[in-house]
Amino acid sequence: MTATTTTTVTTTSGGHCSKSYRRGGGCGGGVMLIASILVLSVHYGHAQDFGYDGEKGPSHWGEQYNSCTGKHQSPININSLDVKKVNLPPLVFQGFNVAPKETNLTNNGHTVVVTMDSEVTPTVSGGPLAGMYEYSQLHFHWGDNDTFGSEDMIDNHRFPMELHIVFFKQEYKNARTALNHPDGLTVLAFFYEIAPVDNPMYDEFIALLGNVTGSHLSARFETPPSLKDLLAEDLLHYYTYDGSLTTPPCSEVVTWIDFKEPILLSHAQVQAFRALEDEEGHPLTHNFRPVQPLGDRVVLYNTDELIKQVELDEEHPPEPEGVDTNKLDTHKSASEEAKSPKDPSNRKQPRNDAVSILPGTTRWTLLIVALTLISTIVQC
Ligand SMILES: [Zn+2]
Repeated sequence: MTATTTTTVTTTSGGHCSKSYRRGGGCGGGVMLIASILVLSVHYGHAQDFGYDGEKGPSHWGEQYNSCTGKHQSPININSLDVKKVNLPPLVFQGFNVAPKETNLTNNGHTVVVTMDSEVTPTVSGGPLAGMYEYSQLHFHWGDNDTFGSEDMIDNHRFPMELHIVFFKQEYKNARTALNHPDGLTVLAFFYEIAPVDNPMYDEFIALLGNVTGSHLSARFETPPSLKDLLAEDLLHYYTYDGSLTTPPCSEVVTWIDFKEPILLSHAQVQAFRALEDEEGHPLTHNFRPVQPLGDRVVLYNTDELIKQVELDEEHPPEPEGVDTNKLDTHKSASEEAKSPKDPSNRKQPRNDAVSILPGTTRWTLLIVALTLISTIVQC
C-alpha cells in the first residue's frame, strides 16, 4: 500500500475544468469556488527514492528505510489451511454508499490514487478494529500481465490486481501522524479477477486513466462513484493480520483486512492500468512488493462457519445453566449404570447367575411351588 495525506486548498477559478490537469495548476475561467486536492506522499521528499526494479527495487528499500527489514512486514502469503477461524464482531461501514461531492484520480508515479471530498467521510469500525477509522485514499497494485500483480497472495496464488483502501484511526487526526502508532492505519484490501465482460461500475474510472498517463497528472470524475460501487458484495468473509505499509517507509502500523470475494474486471480494464507511466516516463507495468515472512504472526479468517455450528448445537436440548459439562457427563454415566440391570445386552450382566436375573415375583412363585411340593411329599 501507499499512504498519502490529503490537503484541501481553496482556490478561485471558474468555467469548466478539463478532466485532466497538472496539480497546482488550477483551471482558468470565471468565478467558482473549488477544492483542489493535493496528494502528498507521507514520505514526501523521498517519494522518488523507491521503485520496483534494479537499484530502487524492493530488495534495496531497507538500505534507506529501517522498517522495511522488520519482522511484521507486508505483503504476505496467506495459507488458508493455516489460519485461525474466528467470529469477529461485524465490520461497520459508514458513508460507503454516499457519492462524494468530488473525486479525483492522480498518477503519483507509483500508482493511481483516488481521493474524495465528501459531506460524509467514509469510516470503518468493528471487526478486528478498536476504534473508528477514517477514509484517507485508495490505490492499486498490478502486474505485467493477468497472472500476477496482487501484493498479498492466497495459497501462493497472485491475483492480477489489488485494491487498497487506506483508513487512519480518527483519534490520530490524519494519516501522517497515524504512522507513529501501531494501530494507526487499517487497509481494506480487495483482489481482482478477470471476467469476460467489463465491470460497468469502473467505466468512468478506466476512461479517466487515459487522462493521467503521465506522472503527477490528475483527473476529476464527472459522476463520482460511492465506495460501495467499487467493492465486492461479500464483506463478511475476510482474512486479517497485523502488517505494514507495502511501500517505504514500510511502517508496521497496518491492520490488514483482505476480503475473500474478488472484484471482477475485464482484461481490457486491467490492461488500462499498465499504460500509466512512472516518474521517469517508463511504463508502470508492475508495482507490487514481493511477499515477506509471516514470522510469529497468526492470520485470522472471519467466517460464519462457527455460528452455524452453534446453531446445530442448539438443536440438542439445552444444558442446565451452571452445570459443569464434565459433571453432567458423569451424571449421564451413573444414569446409564442404573439402567444397566434392565438391559439384557449389558456386558456387565452376570449371565451365569440364573436366579439373579429373575424378577422378585418369579422367585417368590418358585419358593411357593417348592414348599407345596415338599408339603405334598410330606403328605404322601
Ligand atoms: Zn498499497
